[in-house]
Amino acid sequence: MTERRRGNRAGGGSRAQRGNRAGGGSRAQRGNRAGGGSRAQRGNRAGGGRAAGRPRVQRTGFGFDIHPLVAGRPLILGGVTVPSELGLGGHSDADVLSHAIGEALLGALALGDLGRHFPDTDPRYRGISSLALLREVMVLVTARGGRLVNVDATVIAQAPRLAQRLPEMAKRLADTLGIPVEATSVKAKSPEGLGLLGRKEGMAAMAVVSVEVRAAAEGEASL
Ligand SMILES: [Zn+2]
Repeated sequence: MTERRRGNRAGGGSRAQRGNRAGGGSRAQRGNRAGGGSRAQRGNRAGGGRAAGRPRVQRTGFGFDIHPLVAGRPLILGGVTVPSELGLGGHSDADVLSHAIGEALLGALALGDLGRHFPDTDPRYRGISSLALLREVMVLVTARGGRLVNVDATVIAQAPRLAQRLPEMAKRLADTLGIPVEATSVKAKSPEGLGLLGRKEGMAAMAVVSVEVRAAAEGEASL
């Protein structure tokens, strides 16, 4: 309610009045209905302080990851342990889905890749849950004023079938990333028996994220 009123006072109201004076009552109403609310909310999200006047812009990040399938390891995807004869090999828990999302988040802000921030030569990261790595990546993103809007990810796996576990993965990732589950898309794709993924030698994942950041003021570093 307060948001709405502030938004109207900030600009929507005066334009509506102008519209009425000009004879376009219906236009003013249309304007309010179509965008007044969302404009007010956008304004509020931008917050107060020195940077309040700057527009927020959307950055896109893309991530890709691949791990070998090996015996004697659990298969962990999006923080969920999936029953499987083979698991993913790697220094951490080798959660290929979480890694692709982490790469995308870093990519959106041009912060390099996961290997740079969490080197596989560092014993601290041996066997670590990749959800913990994602939390650390989110700290980097928010420290730079970034706000994650949504995630769209695809796991490419010949076996096991993942469809039933996807909602659980989306929920765990959404909780970890601090975004609604409605903004967290996790899909699975079969490689149709083709290539190294089709032969079950490994699993791959791709992810795209959208991150909202405030546009840089003149003379300031952008991030
Ligand atoms: Zn990885």
